[in-house]
Amino acid sequence: MTQRPVSALTVAGSDSGGGAGIQADLKTFAAHGVHGLSALAALTAQHTRGVSAVHVPDIGFLRAQIDACFDDFAIGAVKLGMLANAAVIHAVADALEHYRPAQIVLDPVMVATSGARLLEPDALDALRGRLLPLASLVTPNLPEAELLLGRRIGDRADMRAAAEALLAIGAQAVLLKGGHLPGGGDVVDLFAHAGTRREIAHPRLSVDAHGTGCTLASAVAANLCRGLALEPACAAAADYVHAALHGGYRPGRGEVLVLDHF
Ligand code: PLP
Repeated sequence: MTQRPVSALTVAGSDSGGGAGIQADLKTFAAHGVHGLSALAALTAQHTRGVSAVHVPDIGFLRAQIDACFDDFAIGAVKLGMLANAAVIHAVADALEHYRPAQIVLDPVMVATSGARLLEPDALDALRGRLLPLASLVTPNLPEAELLLGRRIGDRADMRAAAEALLAIGAQAVLLKGGHLPGGGDVVDLFAHAGTRREIAHPRLSVDAHGTGCTLASAVAANLCRGLALEPACAAAADYVHAALHGGYRPGRGEVLVLDHF
């Protein structure tokens, strides 16, 4: 019998426009040569100009999808994206506590670039209390880190302090994305894990893109499935997003770029 290859599972939201969410995750897994599994935690009616509706499926059905995946596949990493509300978060945390996957990458999705709410505000405590401690890595952008920590992040010194604060409230490792910092120059992401602190810099591309956060977290998960350690997995994922942005294209009428998953 041939050995099962390691699969990556995304538990996240569907983007009908194909730019973010589950669709970006599965394209990223495929581009990394990793078999992709998905459990849909939410569905969005969405295109390149915004989100028009959100549907959250029954919690029992979400659990059935997760159970089906763990029942049959060798799962090397789980990526968590849009989880919509506290009930979904609790159900996902229960499942992860039951199956204890080797790696969990948490993208704490809250608000889309277009401004649409992808997480109910009262779900923040559940995200912080139940998922943050379970995750091997959390990948907030600056607005998400501000909400998780309840403080402003205005410069690189604030970013360094925020990464320490995220570790202090229970994150095992942090990849804090610096793209929202004002000013020109490179985009600098900050990786923090145990005694390691590393700044990962890329030239800023002046484009309005969609699905970068989903793609980054999925690329980390895929790299972990391929056996990379956390720090090189994050560095390679940031390179991947930069390259995918570079080749980005506009399939809809909106101005936003969709990433090129070469
Ligand atoms: N839609 C879904 C289902 C998502 O998961 C996300 C982000 O995680 C988005 C939309 C928003 O993507 P962006 O903020 O890159 O436009």
